[in-house]
Amino acid sequence: MDAKPRLGISACLLGHKVRHDGGHKLDQFLLNTLGKYVEYLPICPEVECGMDVPREALRLVGDPENPRLVTSRTGVDFTALMKSWARKRVKALEDENLSGFIFKTRSPSSGMRSVKVYLDNGIPVSRGVGIFARVFMEHFPLLPVEDEGRLNDDGIRENFVERIFTLGRWRETISGRRSVGNLVAFHTSHKLLILSHNQRIYREMGRLVAAASQMPAGEAFAAYETALLSALGTMATVGSHCNVLQHAMGYFKEQLAGDEKAEMAGILEAYRAGNIPLIVPVTLLKHYVRKYECAYLKDQWYLDPHPIELQLRNHC
Ligand code: SF4
Repeated sequence: MDAKPRLGISACLLGHKVRHDGGHKLDQFLLNTLGKYVEYLPICPEVECGMDVPREALRLVGDPENPRLVTSRTGVDFTALMKSWARKRVKALEDENLSGFIFKTRSPSSGMRSVKVYLDNGIPVSRGVGIFARVFMEHFPLLPVEDEGRLNDDGIRENFVERIFTLGRWRETISGRRSVGNLVAFHTSHKLLILSHNQRIYREMGRLVAAASQMPAGEAFAAYETALLSALGTMATVGSHCNVLQHAMGYFKEQLAGDEKAEMAGILEAYRAGNIPLIVPVTLLKHYVRKYECAYLKDQWYLDPHPIELQLRNHC
């Protein structure tokens, strides 16, 4: 993969001093670790829609499903300004080829879930969505999104990073010639990865790719992208990884000796029981792929879906 995936991100998470108090919320992992492998497009909705730094803090009030954005102390209403700016901004973002967005938790503008909304009686409930985040997610319903708080969870982080790198490779594929051959090549090398997320959509995608030569290219690619994003929207689980690994081991039925089969079965059981991380059975599988020169598996992105330096798949 030549191009880095492009990600939108709340600007304060990269250390930009755009918060209401003139500070930032720098996240070291996002800036210094993930940041080496992706290209960020920082966005601060409050500053971009015309507010000053520093400024009075904002909060959401009223109906949690359709809250207003007001200043905390003086009650100035910025809802209309923010919504109208956000609608134009997401339209412009269509040209940015984003592979995802990382939002700032709990922000009344940028928070993607569990943002405090103050009811009319003054009591806060954590059920809101920031005004910009809501407009963004409604405009790009299938794009991977997370916030920096949820990304502290190993499983959520691994899943999100896998999705953005897969989508980055897809963006690279569609930036070239939209031929059936390119579609088949992308799908073939992502089969195991897609299977680890959603078996039903994996089968549908197989039928779609088989029928692609009978469809207009634009239609086939659009349908494939929707299916790919929908499949990746399902979290891979320990069970689905075990299915994929067992399926992959089927390619070595003839070559593996009895003790090698037993070793892999033991390692898979230990992974299933939560005693070892996913990287262990995957590393053993890669060893057999090299040793027995299995061309089909060698090309599977499932074996190396993201840079190893990110140290994903290392948790139980
Ligand atoms: S509006 Fe978003 S990006 Fe700007 S400071 Fe608040 S949380 Fe950060």
